[in-house]
Amino acid sequence: MRHFTVQQILDQKVEVLNRHWLPVKTTTVREAVCLIVAGKADAVAVDERTFPVRSVRLTVEVTPFVVLRDAGPQKHWKPGQPSRRRILDRDGHTCQYCGVRATTIDHVFPASRGGGNTWTNLVAACERCNTLKGDRTPEEADMPLRCTPKPPAHPIYKLAQQH
Ligand SMILES: [Zn+2]
Repeated sequence: MRHFTVQQILDQKVEVLNRHWLPVKTTTVREAVCLIVAGKADAVAVDERTFPVRSVRLTVEVTPFVVLRDAGPQKHWKPGQPSRRRILDRDGHTCQYCGVRATTIDHVFPASRGGGNTWTNLVAACERCNTLKGDRTPEEADMPLRCTPKPPAHPIYKLAQQH
């Protein structure tokens, strides 16, 4: 286990989530201790890491994520509407047909034939593939998708990966 000085522990990053596990802000162990001691937040064990902060009178276990007892204005997480930028972000700006850098988005089932603007029907595509595919399905064009398009995951998964 890595050894931290008190100063280093207090400066460790902590993600503050609201009661619905939506990210509110990034803070430090120093501030998270205050939230926990004041009864405003609870430490949650997402992985094995904890930052024990001890004083003469009390020990507070701070975790990389703390959950506020307060719900805040945003109650439920929704993936939101897909936009060009969001689709490009989800697919890592990578063409889902050939793997080069993508700058456009493509309707898997063509829009001209009733394909919707949905998370599962839109993928990042390079201009070349987008033009080549035209008004055809991946099967018709013989251009298989590299991944099945999905709605974005709850932000907690992304946050857990960053730590
Ligand atoms: Zn391509």
